[in-house]
Amino acid sequence: MSKKTSVLLIYTGGTIGMMQDARSGELRPFDFKTLTQQIPELNKFDIELSSFSFNEPIDSSNMNPEVWIELASTIKENYDHFDGFVVLHGSDTMSFTASALSFMLENLNKPVVLTGSQLPIGIIRTDGKENLITAIEIAGAKIKNKPVVTEVCIYFEYKLYRGNRTFKYNSQHFDAFKSPNYPALAEAGVNISYNKNALLKPNKKALRVYTQLSNDIAILKLFPGISKKITSAILNSPGLKAVIIETFGAGNASTQDWFTNELKAAINKGIIVLNITQCLEGKVIQGMYETSSHLKKIGAVGGSDLTFESAVTKLMFLLGQKLSNKQIVKQLTTNLRGEMS
Ligand code: ASP
Repeated sequence: MSKKTSVLLIYTGGTIGMMQDARSGELRPFDFKTLTQQIPELNKFDIELSSFSFNEPIDSSNMNPEVWIELASTIKENYDHFDGFVVLHGSDTMSFTASALSFMLENLNKPVVLTGSQLPIGIIRTDGKENLITAIEIAGAKIKNKPVVTEVCIYFEYKLYRGNRTFKYNSQHFDAFKSPNYPALAEAGVNISYNKNALLKPNKKALRVYTQLSNDIAILKLFPGISKKITSAILNSPGLKAVIIETFGAGNASTQDWFTNELKAAINKGIIVLNITQCLEGKVIQGMYETSSHLKKIGAVGGSDLTFESAVTKLMFLLGQKLSNKQIVKQLTTNLRGEMS
């Protein structure tokens, strides 16, 4: 007799599990147990569902690396006991969490599907029910007894995306996420249709979970007129190990001497400078224009088509390991979990 497919639901918080405070009208997290009462359909699945709720469910704007470590550790502890995992999470920082988990969980051979909603489950027009039910189905999907999905993804409004390729682009629509540089992994209509060529291939190695992250990073978003004073203050922040420069177009920035010299001084001090573009689609090609050749020359690292969320979490992950700067630069430009083309 084959064993029933089992899925662990991990509840971190977010709108999907919130209720409106009768007096103030504010949305606040409610007891997770009520969730299954709200969606009786969950009992109809031919999937064995178990749940784990974080002690204090949070609005995902309060998300932080400690919670990512707790999440990765929860998946590690339960990895051998379940066929798949669904993480209920607020949509605001869901792409950051999905990206972080993708780096923290190496050789993942089971699905980890993050989902949430724009409207709380208790509201009639909620998008939470469909998101949750289909996310569970995807987490339990198998072909020839092998999981269909073996990576960290986001399921939202009929689409399954590779998590580390996404960002939240809409705070009002149900269709809240985009993955401009990588196709959807699946689309849910009458059937769930998987884009097999886009899915990561599983490997036979054992899961390895990384639980060291470093947040000694800063962001320098460029704009015409950015001042030397502010640029210098950011680059000389105490304890800074890496800075992401958000540049224009294909990775371009001002060629003014003061700007190049500030960056050069930071790189010479051992600070990693990662160049990603402010454009949401396309990629950084350092050296395509004169306005990016100087960045290449001083040793800025071209981030290709990394999303902002992936750039932040990939740096946190790499800085958390005992790696030399040379090794970090090598890994930054290597596609580790399908995060870059
Ligand atoms: N503020 C909420 C959160 O990210 C929004 C949501 O759940 O979609 O936790």
